[in-house]
Amino acid sequence: MLRINEECIACGTCAYACPAHLPLVQYIKHAKRELAARERARLKQESAKRLTQARVERHAREAREKAAAAAARKAAKLAAKAAATPGAAAPEAEASA
Ligand code: SF4
Repeated sequence: MLRINEECIACGTCAYACPAHLPLVQYIKHAKRELAARERARLKQESAKRLTQARVERHAREAREKAAAAAARKAAKLAAKAAATPGAAAPEAEASA
């Protein structure tokens, strides 16, 4: 089977040899353009899919980082509050005494 994109060089010989006088070269060129357009569309779709996937992953990473930073801020705030309040820093020490 003829692989149009790889083997046909659009020399035009088949159009002269065709007994039905079909415009084979025009057909072949049209098919080549169609295949190239499909390939471009496929590549564009793959690129969009990769970009979307990267965006989703980036948003998830940013959400994790934001949650971790908020937890660290909360822990630091609680530690500062505990250090500033006398007697509240070591409730276990009072219970054991
Ligand atoms: S134009 Fe026709 S003869 Fe020429 S390479 Fe293509 S298929 Fe073959």
